Amino acid sequence: MNQYEVVVVGGGINGCGLIRDLALNGVRTLLLEKGDFSSQTSQSSSKMLHGGIRYLETYDFGLVQEALEEKNLWLRLTPHLCFEREFYLPLYDYSKYAPWMLRCGLFLYDFLSHFRNKPHAMLDRRETLDRVPSLDPAGLLGAGKYYDGVVDDAKLSLECLYDALLEPCAEALSYHEITSAVRTADGYELTYASRLHGTSTTVRTKYLVFTTGPFTDELLPKLGIPWRPRLLLSKGIHLWLREGTIKTSGSVVLTTKDNRVVFVIPQRNSIMVGTTETPVDQEMFNIRPVDAEIDYLLRTLAQYFPQANITRDSIISTFAGVRPLVREDESVDERGKASRFHKIFRPDSRTYVLLGGKYTTFRKMTQEIAQEIVPRLGKRYLPNLTLGPLRQKSFMPTFGPKPQLDLDLVKKIISLEKVSTLEDLVKRRLSLLENVNELKDVMGIPLDLVKKALDSSSNT
Ligand SMILES: Cc1cc2nc3c(=O)[nH]c(=O)nc-3n(C[C@H](O)[C@H](O)[C@H](O)COP(=O)(O)OP(=O)(O)OC[C@H]3O[C@@H](n4cnc5c(N)ncnc54)[C@H](O)[C@@H]3O)c2cc1C
Repeated sequence: MNQYEVVVVGGGINGCGLIRDLALNGVRTLLLEKGDFSSQTSQSSSKMLHGGIRYLETYDFGLVQEALEEKNLWLRLTPHLCFEREFYLPLYDYSKYAPWMLRCGLFLYDFLSHFRNKPHAMLDRRETLDRVPSLDPAGLLGAGKYYDGVVDDAKLSLECLYDALLEPCAEALSYHEITSAVRTADGYELTYASRLHGTSTTVRTKYLVFTTGPFTDELLPKLGIPWRPRLLLSKGIHLWLREGTIKTSGSVVLTTKDNRVVFVIPQRNSIMVGTTETPVDQEMFNIRPVDAEIDYLLRTLAQYFPQANITRDSIISTFAGVRPLVREDESVDERGKASRFHKIFRPDSRTYVLLGGKYTTFRKMTQEIAQEIVPRLGKRYLPNLTLGPLRQKSFMPTFGPKPQLDLDLVKKIISLEKVSTLEDLVKRRLSLLENVNELKDVMGIPLDLVKKALDSSSNT
């Protein structure tokens, strides 16, 4: 029976970030993921590396400052996966904030970044319409301009994992689901099942860490781990619109009448629009947007960009995710207001559970667990190892120049980037936006050749 020092369950950004930290510190670690790595919440975010300008309203200055530091770190370390972009916050005569309040907020945002953000600016009406010509001019006063990061969220998680797997002490299995956890004198005996082959394996581990995000409340009781529900689940959806649908030179932040925030972010030859905050009343694994949520976003766009004539035909594809917010007070159920802070729980002395937080701060959150576990295993924890570059880049970068895709490159990606299914390849390794079921070829390569390459790979 294989013996590990740590088994991490859940291969989103937190699981991939944690295995990297542990592996760099020489810990024998196994990561188990039920689907493809980064195929759930961590590929369904608004794709911003950001301090979270709206958290200034709730005086969460520490969180904003830490997130801005992390944003600037990843912009430096992985320029092929993220870039800095201008965000415009339009001000109307009916807006909640006066221009002077917005100016103070944007100054504070730059201040909390130690002025490492590109500096903010206030724009008058004319300047705003020059930069975002599609905006409704009626009642427009001007806009605030500030800078945040835009990231390929799925790829950053994947590259953290590839970096971990360069260490011989790290292993990771996708499409493997934990099915039982039995407490032993010095840890756990775990069983996991392959979802592609139906086989079952039992291993031992000294520590067990759950980075299962929104799935945690459902999973832990099933495994018999002492747990009471702690999550406030909030569903968010996004649309990818055809390039040019909205005329804008940067991202736009809209505040809706019901006080939600909708982002409009041009990237990858298209425009991403989202998000909503709604309770979750469907199966969460591979969750999809429903019609009412798509209509809500289309109505919001029609209000702010009345001339753009955005319809369902403008949509390339859609995606949804569930925010794993930590419930602070069980009597409160206000998704938009719940804190973005994370919490680490210890159901027993050998188990850690990480909940909440933001994508942007994953390195800091997972570090808190690594720095506790590593010394308990009799090793010295070196906190700066995760500040180094990710050593194995994806073959197909998301932003900037891309290599020509041919069948040989597809085969390399399949074997070296842990691809098991067509969707893993198309959505997360090649970062294509089209619906996988509607594809006739993969960037010019006939679909049957790609499927053959997948069938003959050992990953499946
Ligand atoms: C709509 C939306 C927009 C967001 N926008 C931003 C943003 O712009 N910037 C930002 O910083 N943050 C953002 N966030 C927050 C961020 O996306 C999440 O905090 C982060 O992705 C959570 O990562 P995770 O690894 O904890 O969860 P996940 O990515 O969901 O990973 C958990 C994994 O556990 C696996 N799992 C579940 N059960 C099992 C099992 N039995 N065995 C094995 N594996 C299992 C799942 O398959 C899943 O892959 C957003 C979130 C949402 C929902």
